[in-house]
Amino acid sequence: MPKKNTHILLIYTGGTIGMKLCPETDSLVPFDFSQISEEVPELTKSGYSIDSYSFDPVIDSSDVSLSFWQELARIIETNYDRYDGFVVLHGTDTMSYSASALSFMLQNLEKPVVFTGSQLPIGMLRTDGKENLISAIEIASERDSEGHPIVPEVVIYFDSKLYRGNRTTKFSAENFRAFRSPNAPVLADIGIHIKYNTDVIRYPKTWGNPLTVNYALDSNVAVLKIFPGISRKAIEAITHTEGLRALVIETFGSGNAPTSKMFLECISEAIERGIIVLNITQCVTGTVDMDAYATGKALQRLGVINGLDSTTEAATTKLFFLLGQYTDNEKVKELLPLNLAGEITK
Ligand code: ASP
Repeated sequence: MPKKNTHILLIYTGGTIGMKLCPETDSLVPFDFSQISEEVPELTKSGYSIDSYSFDPVIDSSDVSLSFWQELARIIETNYDRYDGFVVLHGTDTMSYSASALSFMLQNLEKPVVFTGSQLPIGMLRTDGKENLISAIEIASERDSEGHPIVPEVVIYFDSKLYRGNRTTKFSAENFRAFRSPNAPVLADIGIHIKYNTDVIRYPKTWGNPLTVNYALDSNVAVLKIFPGISRKAIEAITHTEGLRALVIETFGSGNAPTSKMFLECISEAIERGIIVLNITQCVTGTVDMDAYATGKALQRLGVINGLDSTTEAATTKLFFLLGQYTDNEKVKELLPLNLAGEITK
């Protein structure tokens, strides 16, 4: 049941939901929080106790950075005891990265952190922003019969679906259904009723543990998308990036890459220099299985780590997080294959 006496903190970071058309440039620019509160009078009428916090300046989510995630985590940590749930209004472009990053940073999370946004600004007649916002608030305030939150996770609510944040990817640049969670079931389907998939939602083993926030992040990570004909020069430009500690390779199918001497040399040379190489697939659905083909086995022999069915968003932010926690790459290699926050199927 959504509890009307729950306190929700609405954190506005920017994104299309609150944007306005700038007449000078004829393009959408972030606007302050008044744009949202004026357009959704239901917020005050709903009976929920909602406070808001606005980033200053608000941003297009293409400008999200590590310090933005640290700031967002700090706001949640500072307000954690005062609120029952958090709704984060965020641009859709990098929402999956932010939700993934926060899922690793917020340890022992026992309250909902619901990201949402919209494809059309909230001031437009056909906006999807109102429904997204109102349902996100309802989800953040929902409690079970014992008073525990139904969704104590970092999630994305968008267009009638609730997803685990670190399983999502932005799928469409224009449809209202902007997100997909290709390798994990939805956490809830929203129609006349909200149907929670409680078998899939992650719950703490015991309730009442204090939130711990891991702020340290290390962005010495690169992503290499493999394509037929990729040159040594292109690969080495990435593997020889100064300070690089980890490389995510986006491979073909179930984790396959060229078996050419050149390609394998580049990867093994990077591994010999201590760089962690994580293999995820370019396919939208499915998992890496480096045993399936000789091409995948060749990578395995070099010491490439299996990223299973991780999205790029989860793989990169998990590495930011683990590299930030440990200076020793061997320790990171040990933890990388583990399912830390529901980001892989294991
Ligand atoms: N460019 C916008 C952003 O990510 C797109 C959106 O919000 O839908 O901030």
